Amino acid sequence: MPEAIASYQMLIGAQWVDACDGEWIDVENPAKKAVFARVPRAKKADVDLAVAAAQHAYKTWSKVAAAERGKMLHDIANELEGLIEDLARAISLENGNALRTQSRGEARMAVDFVRYVAGLSREIKGNTVYLSSDNLDYTRREPYGVVGAIVPWNAPLLLAALKIAPAVMTGNTIVLKASEEAPIAVQKLVRVFSNHLPAGVVNVLTGNGIECGVPLVEHPDVPKISFTGSTPVGRSILAAASSRIAAVTLELGGKSPQIVFPDVDINHTVDGVISAMRFARQGQSCTAGSRLFVNESIAKEFVEALVNKLKSMKVGDPLDDATDAGSVVNAKQYQRVCSYIKEAMELDPSALLLGGLPPTEGPLSQGYYFEPTVFYNLPLEARLTREEVFGPVISVSTWKSEEDVIERANSSEYGLAAFVWSRAGAPAIRVAHALHVGWVLINQGTGQQIGHSYGGVKQSGAGREFSLEGILASYTEVKQVSYNLGSHGFAE
Ligand code: NAD
Repeated sequence: MPEAIASYQMLIGAQWVDACDGEWIDVENPAKKAVFARVPRAKKADVDLAVAAAQHAYKTWSKVAAAERGKMLHDIANELEGLIEDLARAISLENGNALRTQSRGEARMAVDFVRYVAGLSREIKGNTVYLSSDNLDYTRREPYGVVGAIVPWNAPLLLAALKIAPAVMTGNTIVLKASEEAPIAVQKLVRVFSNHLPAGVVNVLTGNGIECGVPLVEHPDVPKISFTGSTPVGRSILAAASSRIAAVTLELGGKSPQIVFPDVDINHTVDGVISAMRFARQGQSCTAGSRLFVNESIAKEFVEALVNKLKSMKVGDPLDDATDAGSVVNAKQYQRVCSYIKEAMELDPSALLLGGLPPTEGPLSQGYYFEPTVFYNLPLEARLTREEVFGPVISVSTWKSEEDVIERANSSEYGLAAFVWSRAGAPAIRVAHALHVGWVLINQGTGQQIGHSYGGVKQSGAGREFSLEGILASYTEVKQVSYNLGSHGFAE
């Protein structure tokens, strides 16, 4: 018997609602290629209602004492603590990420981030300029009003928490559009926010990019847009915002390099490279280190060790605790990754060292699964050497001189992250300083940590949101107040 399809709703003001026109979007479990839920298909009319609710709530919310807002966020974090497993399972079910290696960590971090932001509520500070004893010149950090936020599917819960908590802590209200591919965990998260915040402070819409994302971005009453997603969509958002000079923060795509020096411990570094490539997330991470440059003196041994370790990765059911890596998110992404692999295999069949096109029979053919895939010395015409694949595919090449590898690493339109592997401090730091990216990791393949100044340069984004400084810059605008304390002709 087919499993029942659960219906979820959107939050607008104090109400959980269907879409105005009653349409729905199916949500698929990519590990089984089966629809398991549906969410409202929001369009412009729903966006208008949500923005109106957020605008109404802003009038009082922006006047609530910052410490009081922080306290509410603490209470939200406390309630979320008890829901981590439920949230993690919701993520795995909708986006195919493995529960043990990914989703639990994502849910944990989302809760930790809300708590971190709660603690920052007393840090909304301006500064003073001393001009003379007759002047008081100071700045205030004020909220924008209604923030329009849009998130992708690859870390849906964390990215939603990353937008909602800072926006409301700084006195804004928010309309968040969840990804149509992964709206369920976000919906569960927002339910907890709504348990502790006044009506209309947080609103969540579910809809696709064109029908729901565009009207949100174009809405005249949304002065600030915070977007995480692909570079092409980020570009269109920036263009839409320019017509009314709306403020925009963009966290976009990447094609991050990894540079391995000849002095590394190969066994340890291979583990780090696998983690940096986010193989356990099927490569579906903006910071995936998908261009691997290995010094030619150790290349043969290094690549052999990489392939051997990847062979032992267990790909399979995301909800099984024995699984290291789950499935990619949907049929579209599956076809996209296939097309990159197919093109590369046609250009040079001998470059494929592991993986390749996905299995067409057996258990892995029942979902959108790929084996970890390694290409070695592919010709540069292969698009996967330059473009963001967002799949478990790494492209390895060799280098001789530091100058050459820096130039090749920098020859990308993206500038999100880079990984440098070396036991010698000076060369690693020299290379880190020469790389034109927003984040360099030396001898580690871990993810972002709360408090990092994380964000991209070039076409990987604009602005920062992970740290106190980033939050204040992204979610408040600065007002200068200049007060004449002397009489200067004015009556006291
Ligand atoms: P996407 O750009 O296709 O979609 C992201 C969100 O934007 C979704 O909610 C979608 O519905 C919406 N959207 C689509 N078209 C829109 C439009 N024209 N106007 C307004 N909204 C629109 O990205 P995706 O496939 O969901 O996510 C993967 C991408 O996100 C990758 O490029 C990845 O690198 C990037 N990403 C970046 C970061 C970061 O921190 N830099 C983090 C996670 C993901």
